[in-house]
Amino acid sequence: MIEVPLLNVLATAVIEIAEKPEQAVPPPPYPPEAQRALDQVVLECLREKVTPPSGLPELISWCRTRPLDRWPLKLTDDEAEEAFGSGDLLIDRHSGMPTELCLEWKVDGGKDSAARQYDRRTIAVALQACRAVDSPESYTRFRRVLVDQPVLTRADWSELAGDLYLYPVKPLLEAIYPTAPDHYLSDGCYTPCERCRTLLVPLTHGGWWCERDQCRQQGPPTPGRPLPISVTGEVLQLRRPLRQFVTGPGRAEVGLEDALRDLGLAVEMWPAYDAYDLRVTFPDGHVWAIDVKDRVHPGLLGRKASPVPQTPPYNEACWVVPRYRVQGHHDYLGAFRRACPASARGLHLLVDDDLVRRARARLRGGRGPEARLDGEFDA
Ligand SMILES: [Zn+2]
Repeated sequence: MIEVPLLNVLATAVIEIAEKPEQAVPPPPYPPEAQRALDQVVLECLREKVTPPSGLPELISWCRTRPLDRWPLKLTDDEAEEAFGSGDLLIDRHSGMPTELCLEWKVDGGKDSAARQYDRRTIAVALQACRAVDSPESYTRFRRVLVDQPVLTRADWSELAGDLYLYPVKPLLEAIYPTAPDHYLSDGCYTPCERCRTLLVPLTHGGWWCERDQCRQQGPPTPGRPLPISVTGEVLQLRRPLRQFVTGPGRAEVGLEDALRDLGLAVEMWPAYDAYDLRVTFPDGHVWAIDVKDRVHPGLLGRKASPVPQTPPYNEACWVVPRYRVQGHHDYLGAFRRACPASARGLHLLVDDDLVRRARARLRGGRGPEARLDGEFDA
């Protein structure tokens, strides 16, 4: 089911284009708002299994000729009544100008929320595709591709295309991995960030820029192995909202996975269609369930706190925050605790390295607070 905000994005895009003097559809690269609208409509079409618009010209033609109630957008009856009437268009058929309805749907600012929405929709479409074929492994595999490989060479792509688990999400992968733009090129090479795996932007006066705040805080970017296009051919890069909301936090999730595996523990990632992030099994069969929360603001995180879902089953559960988030704050854990609603009182938030320390203590036979997720002790 489509959430209403897609209409905000569409309307904003239509108005942005209509405001251009020539009133024509601009050639690619499209304005960001328009690209975002197109991306989201393509996602919805994939979900509804209808042919998506081939590009912005066709999307604009839909806006002008196709009443909103005949778009592949599913709204509940109540929402549809609020959203638009039968036969409503976003662009006036005759003048080519945005309709009043379109103006009412335009939003100012809110670009992050549009990006966030794209991220959520992508994950929802992936979950639906994997559930349809009853394959939680496909979802886990999909998630890992987004986290480990935000940049793909043609060779990487062929390898993924041959992965049977990824078959249900292949059309989705095609939609979310466009060709990397030229402004990432330097001396005929694309260069990924060693830390983040996303592409670095070459600066005019030398040096690099990494798009992740957290990476820039750690110091100058660390260029990874360059990808010369003469060798690798076209390079694909995951779309920005997914790099920001899936790849970034995902690096913290797999970092914790690696640390726990290094201890010899069995770790399942995103089990049962992402019920939570890590399911850790000790040699004696004791299970920890962990959700990693890579958030700047402990208060906002606390307000959203809720118990870790019960299935797949576990003995203990907690939320984990990466160390770098806590470092920048004088009392991150305390602020989180104070903001937690009563319904989440039993939920503990641990720093990632503290969790690894507790795992080590438990492996050594410890059963006290130092080896439990809810144990209070001075590390
Ligand atoms: Zn980086």
